[in-house]
Amino acid sequence: MSLVNWIKRLATDVRELLFPRQCLVCGDTLGVHEQVVCVHCLMQLPYTNYHGQAENPVVRLFYPNISVVKVNAYMFYNQGSDACNVVLGLKYHGRREVGQVMGRMMAIDVLEQGFFEGVEAIVPVPLAKQRQHRRGYNQSELLARGVAEVTGLPVWTDVVERVVDNRTQTHLSRAERRENVEGIFRLCCPDVIAGKHLLLVDDVVTTGATLASCMETLALAGGVTFSVLCLAVAASTADTPDELPLDLDV
Ligand SMILES: [Zn+2]
Repeated sequence: MSLVNWIKRLATDVRELLFPRQCLVCGDTLGVHEQVVCVHCLMQLPYTNYHGQAENPVVRLFYPNISVVKVNAYMFYNQGSDACNVVLGLKYHGRREVGQVMGRMMAIDVLEQGFFEGVEAIVPVPLAKQRQHRRGYNQSELLARGVAEVTGLPVWTDVVERVVDNRTQTHLSRAERRENVEGIFRLCCPDVIAGKHLLLVDDVVTTGATLASCMETLALAGGVTFSVLCLAVAASTADTPDELPLDLDV
């Protein structure tokens, strides 16, 4: 082992000793080679196992209004379950490393299925500027960076912006949610995306209303096709798509 590697290893060991990282799901201390979730919990995450198959409950959220090429959600979001902490850590608790780690995993999950064939760029669903400033990052962009690591696709963060911070969808009916997201996005670079196949990346999909609104805005450029990859789908959405989904902030 070279001296530099030896010093790096020592630094890692010291950091682990002083600030042990914990599994987001069970709270146990993570091993040096474990990231975000321990191996034991990783084996038990509520995976959808859709693997990008053509008929899955998330596809139905967009059909028939929006034509999508491929759609996938990697895991279920069961409100109140320990596995939710993966999503909550990324969204609300500043655990930005979750984004890249889970982004890589959700890309590897569908890579063999040819999910990314034809896709030309990744577009993370944007946050409103103030919200991103408060949080310090856009969780969907971090996921997108993980997907990009696996696929080598570029990440485009400046082709669409969120001009309205529709803070919460809670207590809104399905129809009201659709109205609530109308006009919240603005197309920035129509020339860049015209005729392109874009992969939208989002953290949790519930009604799909926000994603649909984002795609409708991007479609204004003309000739754009879409695929969608999400970290999680609300379990209630997957089971009973017509019921009102869970309460999750942007
Ligand atoms: Zn664990």
